[in-house]
Amino acid sequence: MAKFDERVNILGLSRRAYEEAADLEGRSRALGRLYRQVFAEGRFEPGSAAIAKEAAARLAARFEVRLPAVESVVEEEGPLGTTAKALLRLADGERVECVRIPTAHRGPEPAPAALCVSSQVGCRMACAFCESGRRGLARNLRPEEIVGQYAAARLSLGWDIGKIVFMGMGEPLDNFEGLAGALAVFLDASGPAFAQENLTVCTVGLPRGIARLKSLGLKRLNLAVSLNAPDDGLRSELMPANRAVGLEALAAALRLYPQRRNFTLAVNYCLIPGRNDGRGAEQGVAAFLRAAAPPGRAFVNLIPYNPGSAAIGRAPNEAEIEDMTRRLLAAGVLVKLRSPRGRGLMAACGQLGRVKG
Ligand code: SF4
Repeated sequence: MAKFDERVNILGLSRRAYEEAADLEGRSRALGRLYRQVFAEGRFEPGSAAIAKEAAARLAARFEVRLPAVESVVEEEGPLGTTAKALLRLADGERVECVRIPTAHRGPEPAPAALCVSSQVGCRMACAFCESGRRGLARNLRPEEIVGQYAAARLSLGWDIGKIVFMGMGEPLDNFEGLAGALAVFLDASGPAFAQENLTVCTVGLPRGIARLKSLGLKRLNLAVSLNAPDDGLRSELMPANRAVGLEALAAALRLYPQRRNFTLAVNYCLIPGRNDGRGAEQGVAAFLRAAAPPGRAFVNLIPYNPGSAAIGRAPNEAEIEDMTRRLLAAGVLVKLRSPRGRGLMAACGQLGRVKG
């Protein structure tokens, strides 16, 4: 909540919320132009708009655009293009990371990248394989700080972004207000104007959060859940959040989520050889998918484990990845293999969060 003497950062407001806060009757077009300018150019200059001087001064006193400062960027070349991780400093000195992930393209031109954004500073889910989880939760990010990562990526760094993935530091459903506020801005036709299908929320699986996400009514929004284990025992070891909500309850919550017939659930499985690829693991995964989604309406993203600073295993080799893929397919599971991008940058899955040192 902004203090009374602080200006409101427009990056956290949908056009409607901004116009309501501006309270300038009959000036919707001029306000809309100023709003578009914020996202196109990172500027908010009411003096340049077709409104009375006094009203412009009031707007200038009330609103501002504040992007996080880019502290550093590291890049790594890969087969699909450049993966880049940006370290951003927020107004209170906290730091978050966002990652530009190249996506597959068909024509000669590179496709716009996906931006993996953080939703919290740190995370309290304490997943054993994750750098952010080791730090614990410092605080939630406000909508403008989530959208600010996109604004900095586009306007400060010049990155071409076509998709947003809530898969950086933090559990987005543990910061529902921040997530919902950011989604409203990302989807605003006068602002970033993303299509719902280009936004993905990735969660450990918090049933209340899943139900609240559904209540937003975003029928084409993508949802991904991190499974990472074939049974409750191992999942609770790797992902302590599972102790409160077991696989059965999680699958039941996911069953209730779809808002359209062809909704397809993504199930992320971080492959840690010797930990979660034991005999019969594929059957556990297949059983979860059957419980969580109608036939053919869920698939597994198999993600090779990226050892972090306190590794709990090693990265799988090609043969281990192929073996798990083959077993999952034989168990009737649709599998997509996600090649690790940015492993050398500590920018791959589970590696964000080392922002202090
Ligand atoms: S994997 Fe995600 S939910 Fe788990 S600790 Fe890391 S940031 Fe949090």
